Amino acid sequence: MNRVILIKYGELTTKKGNRKLFINTLYSNILKKLKGLNVNIYRDMSRMYIEYLDKDQDLILKNIGEIFGIHAYSIAYKCDSNLDSIKETISMVIKDNLDDKNYTFKVETKRSDKRFEPNSIECNNIFGGHILKNFKNLKVNVHDYDILVHVEIRNDSSYVYLNEYKGLGGYPVGTLGKCLAMLSGGIDSPVASYLALKRGIKLDLVYFEAIPHTSLEARRKVINLARKLYPYAGDMKLIIVPFTKLQEAIYKNCLENYSITIMRRMMFRIMEKLTRKYSSLGIVNGESVGQVASQTLTSMKVINSVTNLPILRPVACFDKLEIIEIAKKIDTYDISILPYEDCCTIFVPKHPIINPRLDACLEMEKKFDYEEMIDEILNNLQVINIDNKEDEDYQDIL
Ligand code: ATP
Ligand code: MG
Repeated sequence: MNRVILIKYGELTTKKGNRKLFINTLYSNILKKLKGLNVNIYRDMSRMYIEYLDKDQDLILKNIGEIFGIHAYSIAYKCDSNLDSIKETISMVIKDNLDDKNYTFKVETKRSDKRFEPNSIECNNIFGGHILKNFKNLKVNVHDYDILVHVEIRNDSSYVYLNEYKGLGGYPVGTLGKCLAMLSGGIDSPVASYLALKRGIKLDLVYFEAIPHTSLEARRKVINLARKLYPYAGDMKLIIVPFTKLQEAIYKNCLENYSITIMRRMMFRIMEKLTRKYSSLGIVNGESVGQVASQTLTSMKVINSVTNLPILRPVACFDKLEIIEIAKKIDTYDISILPYEDCCTIFVPKHPIINPRLDACLEMEKKFDYEEMIDEILNNLQVINIDNKEDEDYQDIL
């Protein structure tokens, strides 16, 4: 029996003009993800199919469950497009997948070739009759059924399957260009990155580090968060920005209550330069409106004014609990709550300003040559490739 994994595309089916790009990107993302496995992947405008070796089935299903751009997937049995062959295959699918308890069922036939006779409704009746005749424990109920028997009749072959797994949805990563995501060790930014990936945006990651005020443990935490994103993202760069000197200059030269505002303006100035260096179209971060002083709308306006790049804030309007729910789902939560200091949490002012003024920022920023410091920072970046390396291989980087 020839089993394949049948993949239904996600939202991309609504994007008629871009359909080819979406399908091609999904195809190459799946190929990359299943690299090293013995598979054959073929596709048409509405489905993709993976032929595989039985022993790899679980591994492939797990991998497919981590790819954006897939609406649903199932293990389908492939046969010739004629009634006898389909009936025989339906029997086999049922024998392989159902026990002999009583179930209700419905048959749903789809024909991609409308010239195929009989038509879909007649096919439903024929296949339903075949099931009733051969399986005494199965009864038809088209309104309230336990089992949906899918039959898809295509030009060269037909496919029969029962269960569908829900895919992650979204767009295939890479269909919407690349952004740089600001990844701290917190809960929000990995979730924001994940949601940007879901929109089809490819990412490189940026971590601002302030050694010795922050530890290598904090860096390890960020690397581990990045590695949790890898199954969804594919290869990424993690760009480590040496922020110490600039941060110290901020605390020396600026009013304490403005230090976070100005620090974040500096971050965005650096981000803007990095987007050019790493051919990216915008910035992603984990800001959430109202969560902290730097995330009031007035703060965001003043901070944002150093750049006119698109800044995506996927969790801007989420409650913390909603963010945590996703963090748990993608398994970043337990890492994020580890207690290492982040460059934003050191030197935290007692009363950070929640309504900063732009003119005040500009005045304070005149007091030191941040441009030169930024140039120096850009000459001292450290870049780590996040890929499917083993644990030990990341140890060398620390
Ligand atoms: P998170 O939980 O993601 O750390 P947060 O609620 O602690 O977010 P802030 O510390 O104000 O909020 O940071 C807001 C966003 O700015 C973060 O979500 C992240 O995208 C970015 N950011 C903050 N600190 C860093 C850092 N050290 N390196 C990279 N990005 C950072
Ligand atoms: Mg933080």
